[in-house]
Amino acid sequence: MRRLLVAGNWKMHFTVPEGMRFAEEIRPALEPYAGAVDIVLLPPALMLWEIAGLLRNSPIRVGAQNAGWEDEGPFTGEISPRMLAGWCDDVLIGHSERRQLFGETDEQLNRKLTAALRNGLDVILAVGETLEENEASRTEEVVTRQLTAALYGVAPAVPSRIAIAYEPVWAIGTGRAATPEHANQVMRMIRRLLAKALSPTRANDTPILYGGSVTPGNIGSLMEQPEIDGTLVGGASLKADQFVRIVEATAASVVASQG
Ligand code: PEP
Repeated sequence: MRRLLVAGNWKMHFTVPEGMRFAEEIRPALEPYAGAVDIVLLPPALMLWEIAGLLRNSPIRVGAQNAGWEDEGPFTGEISPRMLAGWCDDVLIGHSERRQLFGETDEQLNRKLTAALRNGLDVILAVGETLEENEASRTEEVVTRQLTAALYGVAPAVPSRIAIAYEPVWAIGTGRAATPEHANQVMRMIRRLLAKALSPTRANDTPILYGGSVTPGNIGSLMEQPEIDGTLVGGASLKADQFVRIVEATAASVVASQG
C-alpha cells in the first residue's frame, strides 16, 4: 500500500533562528502522526543542515526546495545533490515558482531529477498547468509534457521514492484550491502516465500529492479522493497549528479508509 505524504514548503520564509524555533516547536506535535503519514519539512537551503540536525532522531523528514544537476563545479549560488546526500531525505524538483520565476525548463528539470536520484535522494516532482492553460483545456497536454520530460531516462527500478505533486499554478497561494474532483481526475491521468513512463507497479506505489491552497478546512474533502495520497502545503505550513491539523486530518483519513 502507498504511504501518505504531507510536505511543508517554507519557500523563502524565516531567518535561521526563526526556522529552528519553528521546527523545535512543531516537532513534538507532528511526531505522533509519523507512523501513519510521511511528513517532510522543506526549509530554505541556508537552514537545512541545522534543521536536519534538530530532527536527527525524529521520524520527521527534511528536504531541499531545489538542487542543481551537477555534483560539483562552477555553478555560483547553486547547491548540489551530492552536498545533500546522506543527511537530507528529499528534494523538491520543478515547483512552479522555479519554472516561472527562475526559468527552469523541462530539460533542466530532467537533469536535476536524474542527479538527485543518482545521489540517492528521494524526490517530490511538481507539475501543473497555469490558469491560461487550464482555461484553454490544456491541463492534460501540459501535465503530460512536464511529467514525461522530467522522467525521461529514469529506470523503473530506481530505489529512491519519487512522489509527484500535482499543483495547478492558479491554486498556489491564491486561496482558490482546485476542487477535489478536478484534482482526482488529473491525478488519475498522472498515474496512467507513470505506468507508461515507469511501470504499472511503480505507478501503483507512487504517492501523488495535491498542492494549492491546502488548509485545515479543505484537507478532509481532498483526502476523500482515491487518487490523492497527501498534500504539498505552502502558506499553511508556516503556521504550526494549521500544518499540524492538516497532518492530523491526513492521518485520520488512513484510519477512516481502513475502518
Ligand atoms: C506550494 O508552495 O507548493 C503551495 C501549494 O503553496 P500554497 O499552499 O500556499 O498554495
